[in-house]
Amino acid sequence: MKRVIFSLMAMVAMVSAAYAQNSLSAELAYKVKNEGFAKSKIEEMAQFMTDDMGPRLAASQLKLRAEKMVIEYLKEMGLSNPRAEYAFDFAKGGWDNEMNYVAMTAPYYTSFAGNPKAWSGSTNGLVKGEVVLIEAQSVADLDKYKGKLAGKIVLMPVTQTYQMNFNPLATRFTEEELEVLAQDPRPTSNSRIPSISRAASMASRELQTAITNMLKEEKPVAIISGGGTFNVAPSRGVQYKVGDPEPICEVMLPIEDHGRMARMIAKGEKVEMELNIKNTFTNNQRINNVIAEIPGTDPKLKNEIVLIGAHFDSWHGGTGGADNASGCIVMMEAMRIIKSLGIQPKRTIRLALWGGEEQGLYGSRGYANINLYDSAKGKKLDGYDNFALYLNMDNGSGRFRGIYLEENDQAVPFFETWKKHIETLGFKTLSLRRTGSTDHVVFNGLGLPAYQFIQDELEYGRTYHTVMDTYERLSLEDLKVDAVIAAWIALSAAMDEDRIPTKPGLPAPATR
Ligand SMILES: [Zn+2]
Repeated sequence: MKRVIFSLMAMVAMVSAAYAQNSLSAELAYKVKNEGFAKSKIEEMAQFMTDDMGPRLAASQLKLRAEKMVIEYLKEMGLSNPRAEYAFDFAKGGWDNEMNYVAMTAPYYTSFAGNPKAWSGSTNGLVKGEVVLIEAQSVADLDKYKGKLAGKIVLMPVTQTYQMNFNPLATRFTEEELEVLAQDPRPTSNSRIPSISRAASMASRELQTAITNMLKEEKPVAIISGGGTFNVAPSRGVQYKVGDPEPICEVMLPIEDHGRMARMIAKGEKVEMELNIKNTFTNNQRINNVIAEIPGTDPKLKNEIVLIGAHFDSWHGGTGGADNASGCIVMMEAMRIIKSLGIQPKRTIRLALWGGEEQGLYGSRGYANINLYDSAKGKKLDGYDNFALYLNMDNGSGRFRGIYLEENDQAVPFFETWKKHIETLGFKTLSLRRTGSTDHVVFNGLGLPAYQFIQDELEYGRTYHTVMDTYERLSLEDLKVDAVIAAWIALSAAMDEDRIPTKPGLPAPATR
């Protein structure tokens, strides 16, 4: 009997020895979870990143202020060498809104929660005027406005009407939906835009350009557009580069306020508005990333980098709560968890809070161009061979349910091992699908292992890039789970003997 038990134990030991090569211990899993759940700083960080910092539009004065604030915060956290690193020259320069008042004054008074378009100009103090609605199906229809818009407030055409929505605002993935994500998506269908809608969208773009050109000539007092859903003004920007004349003042209104005035004018009523908008332009063209580390300690592996990050810039309307304070908070808390447990990772774990994501992934592109791959010369740089992993977060405040592995089959066995102690938190689904539109695509495009999480959608579609994207959009409980998962995967990758191979054939040789 004794012998049988002994050999069973030996078998268990052999099995765990095979796992021990890559999977971190249950003891460490307990410590990471305890630090993340019992001693969480998520709430403090959430207020710091939203209420305290305010909006963080690329290159704005508020963004520069926020960079200084977060660098101090990371220093206090004990991370190594927190710093702002130059990434990219941004043609638009800085822009900050300093006064914003928008109201309808006739046929009766109503103030509106408008949001000035970024990089648009100011009004000359408080201005009042008649509102003229642009109604045009084609470029020829614009003739009737020529010479008649100076001194007027122009209401752009209604391009979108309010649709009642019978779906819930926040959803969690069902088991069935996760099963679908877990299936290999290939071969993917090449989804082409049907030619009829392409023709229609070209015509509408042509009309849009003609309206923009006409308004540049006519010089109205201000241009008002509508958008968004449910009485929320979206944040948008206008064309501008440093040195251009200051553009005309433009304001976004909620779809309902825009729609109300458009309907009244179309019926023949006289509508008047008053505005007082002050915007400041600065010549700062630097897009910075904020970087900090927990240095690696293994003599052979310490120069390899496990990168975790999120974009730090936001649109200017709200305080960039879900987009993307949530991502920054999670990655900062993951660093805090690892640091406060006194773990000495083999590889260096680097935090990157990217700048200028909303205007074109400028922070991460700049980082890649300076450290990983010189795209102009088509040449790999030192950082390329030392790049072990990148984890990105940019889909709001929802819980991590798994990860998108960007068609890299070679990543699957690693995540199968690494997820062992976090499946109980709901991190189960490994999807080979691609997901786009944020910073990891820069690194993935070079063949490097760079991934973004599968996240539950919590009011994201309705609120991001609007004045409503604030602290209230953050689910602190979900963010705590996300930080523990991010810390665990970063640690697993930093401790693993092996690392995920790059995609064969990438980066593609430069074509000349
Ligand atoms: Zn974002």
